[in-house]
Amino acid sequence: MDFKAQTGLLGLTKDELRALCKELKLPAFKGDILFGWLQQGVVDYNAMTNLSRKDREQLAALYPLSLPQVIKEQVSKDGTTAKLLLDYGADNYDNPQRVQIELVIMLYNRRESRSRHTLCISTQAGCAMGCAFCATGLSGLHRNLTAGEIVAQVLTGKLWLNRHGLGEVTNLVYMGMGEPFANYQQVMQSLRIINHPDGLNLGQRRVTVSTCGLVPEIKRFADEAAEFGLAISLHAPNDELRSRLMPINRRYGLADLMAACDYYTAKTNRRISYEYALLQGVNDGKEQAQALAELLGGKLAHVNLIPVNFVEETGFLPSPAETLNEFAAILNSRGIETTVREKRGSDIDGACGQLRRNHNR
Ligand code: SF4
Repeated sequence: MDFKAQTGLLGLTKDELRALCKELKLPAFKGDILFGWLQQGVVDYNAMTNLSRKDREQLAALYPLSLPQVIKEQVSKDGTTAKLLLDYGADNYDNPQRVQIELVIMLYNRRESRSRHTLCISTQAGCAMGCAFCATGLSGLHRNLTAGEIVAQVLTGKLWLNRHGLGEVTNLVYMGMGEPFANYQQVMQSLRIINHPDGLNLGQRRVTVSTCGLVPEIKRFADEAAEFGLAISLHAPNDELRSRLMPINRRYGLADLMAACDYYTAKTNRRISYEYALLQGVNDGKEQAQALAELLGGKLAHVNLIPVNFVEETGFLPSPAETLNEFAAILNSRGIETTVREKRGSDIDGACGQLRRNHNR
C-alpha cells in the first residue's frame, strides 16, 4: 500500500487527547502540549521538543501522523483564489479508490481592515445529493471524511498560507465537496476542534456551514447552542423548480425547509445566508426574483447570488452580468439584502468538484 494520510489524532479534542495520554500512563497535561503542536500543523513528533524522546517514540509508534498530499495546485491569474487537490490515499487493498478532495483558498484584501483568508472546506469525498448543476454530484459519493481528515484539510490550508507569507486562516466555510449535514457528527467534531482557543481558535462567527436542506440536521444544528453560521443552498424559489435542480427538495420541500430555517433563526438570532447560483434561462427570470423576495420577505436573511462557472457535463450556462444585476436589484428593492459574489477562479477549474474530475480524466 502506498501513501495513506494518518490523521486520527487530529480528530481528537483537547480533552480527548488528555484522556488518551492518561490511558497511555502519561500525565494529562501532555495532551495539552500535543494539541498545541497538532493545531499548528506540526505532525512530525521529532519537532515536538517539549515532549520527552520516550514519549515521542511511544506516540509515533502508536499514532503515526501525516497530512494529505497536495497533488495539484492551481492559483487564479488574479491571485485571489487557490485550489488544491488533496490526496489522502486509498483506504485499503479492498477499497483501492483514492480519497481525493478539493480545498479552495480565497484571499480578500481589504484596505480598511486586515486581509481575510477564507478556506472552503470539503466534508465528503464526492456527494450523494445529485444537484443537477454540480460537478461534485456527478461522481456520486465515495465516503464521508473523518473529523481528523477535515481538520487536516484546514491545517493544510493554514500551512499553505504560512508558506506563502500570507498569514493565517481567518474564516472557514464548509461549502466544498459534499453535504456537511450528511456527515453531521464528524463535521461537529471538527468544528469543536478548530474553534478551541488553544488551537486554531477560529471563532464561531467566522465559520459557516452550508447545507442543501437536510431539515432534521438544520434543527439539530440550531439546538447546539453555538454561534456557527448557517448557509442554505437554495437555488430556486419554488418547489417545482427546486425539485428539478436539487433532488433533496423531494424529501424536504420548501415549506419544511423554511420552517427549519425559522427555527434556527429563533434559536440563534443569526441571519441565514441563502445561496442562489444563477443559471441562464433556468432560475434567473424577473418573476423568479419576485418569488424569491416573497419567500424570504420578513426573514433574517441575506441572499448571495453566485455567478456559476461553466461545467461542460451539467450543460448549465452562467447568467449574463446584466441579468445578475437585475435580479439583485429586484431583491434589494424588496428589502432583501443581496450581494453578488465575486466571480473567482474560472481560469482554475473554478466549480466545486471540477479540479478533481479534470485531474482524474
Ligand atoms: S451542490 Fe453540494 S449538495 Fe449538491 S451535489 Fe454538489 S456538493 Fe452535493
